[in-house]
Amino acid sequence: MARKTKLKTEIRKERKRKEPTLPQLKQRLQQVFNKFIRLRDYGKPCISCGRKRLLQAGHFYSVKGYDGLRYDEYNVHGECGGCNGFDDMHLLGYSENLKERIGIEEYEALKQRAADYKREGYKFLKSEIIELIEIYKSKVKILEQKGSNNFAE
Ligand SMILES: [Zn+2]
Repeated sequence: MARKTKLKTEIRKERKRKEPTLPQLKQRLQQVFNKFIRLRDYGKPCISCGRKRLLQAGHFYSVKGYDGLRYDEYNVHGECGGCNGFDDMHLLGYSENLKERIGIEEYEALKQRAADYKREGYKFLKSEIIELIEIYKSKVKILEQKGSNNFAE
């Protein structure tokens, strides 16, 4: 009897090990989401300094302070490594250019989402992350196809 219970526990543990955890799923989504941002903004200047540089996915509201906005397309734009990594002043340029890039209405809506997040927080569900991974995988695919067409012309 005891042995059987032990076996069941082992099986359950094994299943748990195989299923990706929420942090693992979020990391996977972050990778495909960042790829989407880089493809979407390919050829555009850095959102903060306006220079043509190699772009990373730069968050306006930081991942650290605003986890709930980390996969928000309006909150993430192509940004050069210098602005994204080291320059705190980058947010001044970012906010100005962001208004232009997404329009004042979307900018205000994003500000509202940030305020809502600060007030209420947000917990991602595994199912939601899995769905977003699929959505961004297909968005990446579409952009990659478009990209190859552009290069062919
Ligand atoms: Zn920059």
